[in-house]
Amino acid sequence: MSEPQQLHAELIEMSRALGDPAADCVILGEGNTSARIDEETFWVKASGAQLPTITEEGFVRVRFAPILGLFDAEHPSDEMIKQVLLEACMDNKAEQRPSIEALMHALLLQEPGVNFVGHTHPVAINAMAGYSPMKLSAAALPQRGYRSPTRGCRWPGE
Ligand SMILES: [Zn+2]
Repeated sequence: MSEPQQLHAELIEMSRALGDPAADCVILGEGNTSARIDEETFWVKASGAQLPTITEEGFVRVRFAPILGLFDAEHPSDEMIKQVLLEACMDNKAEQRPSIEALMHALLLQEPGVNFVGHTHPVAINAMAGYSPMKLSAAALPQRGYRSPTRGCRWPGE
């Protein structure tokens, strides 16, 4: 298996593990996963793809630069964000659209040693009052050393 194929296989495995109903980490398949391919690009789950059943076709390859550029925009409109996300896509024959969460994933994949990012919307966490969505939903998974969510949902950094 080539390195990109291996990366893709690991991304699919992580996504399905996070989406496993037994782990109770996602509501209605919600959550998002991504993997750094190289310095310039990453895969991110396409809008509408479901974590528990995701395949290679459920991811879209996007470029970091235009997405990270949105953080420099003064007040980007929803329309502008959608447009940039679409233009950041490569080889997008199926015209898939990365979700707006690709912004957060692009940022987290810039962290040293982070090649995979997965976040979910766990029932128990969503039920808590006064939570910080960024803190709770962003689980950066250091270099392929992610822990299986089947052992329970964890706080980022735990
Ligand atoms: Zn989310």
